[in-house]
Amino acid sequence: MIETKVKLKLDIIKKQMINEYSFTQLAKKGIMKLLIDSLSIEDCNLIQANAVYFFVSLSPASQLKVRVLVPIDSNLIFIDGNCFDEFSEFELTSILLHEIGHSLNPDLKSEKGEFNADDYAVKRGYKKSIISSLLKCIEKWPRQFDKKIHHSRILRLQEDES
Ligand SMILES: [Zn+2]
Repeated sequence: MIETKVKLKLDIIKKQMINEYSFTQLAKKGIMKLLIDSLSIEDCNLIQANAVYFFVSLSPASQLKVRVLVPIDSNLIFIDGNCFDEFSEFELTSILLHEIGHSLNPDLKSEKGEFNADDYAVKRGYKKSIISSLLKCIEKWPRQFDKKIHHSRILRLQEDES
């Protein structure tokens, strides 16, 4: 029964991958398993219904072939394969969950949107990983991340840490 659920979730999420490369990269790093474990079937159905697609690419630029039909207004979630050695699989999963949170609530902007996206990851057990990934981002890329919003996110997450 449990295995059937996992397979069902995997089947749904696999279809949301832009290409095979993205799937295999996420699987190799262990992110695919964590993502599937953290999402419910309802979550997976919502991801599919909201046309949320995932792809792994490499900074500063890379090319890929889209292997699924991506409708207009789909939500594309990009993850940089060059970051795979910099973050743990838990941190990378927390970042993906945060982005899924954005995709499912596109009308929430700025701070509200960020907090809501954080809560999506927190509800799925990734509070610590969101905090540590934010701290790493601030350290690695201060120009983009050493900003009020990211410090507010960390403080908020740490405040209601139970
Ligand atoms: Zn965000």
